[in-house]
Amino acid sequence: MPAEILIPKFIHIFDEKLSDAKIYAGGFAINSNPDFFLSFCEAIFIGYFDALDEDAYKEIAMAIKDKTCPPYFSSSIDNTFYKKSNSKNIPSTAIIHKESIFKESFVIEMNRGCPFNCRFCEIPSVTNKVIYHPASDIIDIIEKKSAGIKRVVLIGTALATHPEFDSIIKTLHQKNYEISFSSLRADMLKEETISLIAKSNAHNITVSPEAGSVKIKKYINKNITTETLVNATDIAINNNIKRIKLCYIIGIPTETDDDILAIVDEVGAIIKNAKKNAKIRKWMPIINMSVNPYITKPLSANFQEQFIDKNTYEKKSKLLKKHILNMGGIQIKFLSYYEALSEVLLSKLKKEHGQLLINKDLYNLSYKKLCKLLINVLDIENTFNI
Ligand code: SF4
Repeated sequence: MPAEILIPKFIHIFDEKLSDAKIYAGGFAINSNPDFFLSFCEAIFIGYFDALDEDAYKEIAMAIKDKTCPPYFSSSIDNTFYKKSNSKNIPSTAIIHKESIFKESFVIEMNRGCPFNCRFCEIPSVTNKVIYHPASDIIDIIEKKSAGIKRVVLIGTALATHPEFDSIIKTLHQKNYEISFSSLRADMLKEETISLIAKSNAHNITVSPEAGSVKIKKYINKNITTETLVNATDIAINNNIKRIKLCYIIGIPTETDDDILAIVDEVGAIIKNAKKNAKIRKWMPIINMSVNPYITKPLSANFQEQFIDKNTYEKKSKLLKKHILNMGGIQIKFLSYYEALSEVLLSKLKKEHGQLLINKDLYNLSYKKLCKLLINVLDIENTFNI
């Protein structure tokens, strides 16, 4: 769930449970819109504060105590705090709650920042330097902290760009861990990597081509060709990976019906290939498609672009759904229009909106009602047709 959607939940908890507490906040979500969070936080930590060593934490605590902590407290790469960062402090946690998406798993971060620059993504601007945590530290932390949990979830951006990706999977496999991943870039998956993923008990793989046509792939700066995608999914199927999830985006500027139909062609090429040896294999992979509208965020390159209106999103979704379902063998799921629009609108909030939102019971509102409220609060034109 995107951070913007969780904001009303955070606000609710702050308001109900922690009204007397002083809040200091940091992390990726905070860094993408620090102004807004400053409306109910004492200070915002910009940068990689969770990787600091003990001395640096003491200095921060002292600054807070002496009230010399500035509202925006930066740990940017030019700042001395960054130089003290220590990969032994890699964020990791054992999550065992049965309702968690990562239930009974040990979740650990592999990297920060991203070497790519997709037009719709904020990560390259929020974290302007790519950091890969060393394999030895990742393995060490898993062994010391996973407390008997045998399922490890590796998180990060474009995970397969980690220079020690294969070695991490190989080691975890040898140590009998089951491994899951966040989404992987199909163009970074070598045959050996996919075979290691399959051996590690991963029964599914998620790849995010985002667009079908060459024109739109180029526009969003995520140019993973159909051939690369078919090849990666083919290797996955040959390695016994039975479920493939494909993520696409619609509602991208300049997109026409032909660009939507190019998604159908691309998925069709994957299905055709998957059917090729299905009789010999005696199984067909399950293909799931997840489709989102093109979301615009303050720090991504697409910020000035118009978010799609509701009627157009529904029209495009209908066209895509009809052709995909006609092919058979694919499950397709669309993100709700109002949920996506909430994400866009919440990301626009500024410092002056914080207190107003704390007084509203956003936690219980439907996405539709939340969107209407936010359009009023932000005082923007309702071009969304809602
Ligand atoms: S979408 Fe993924 S690959 Fe593209 S910039 Fe963002 S994190 Fe990197």
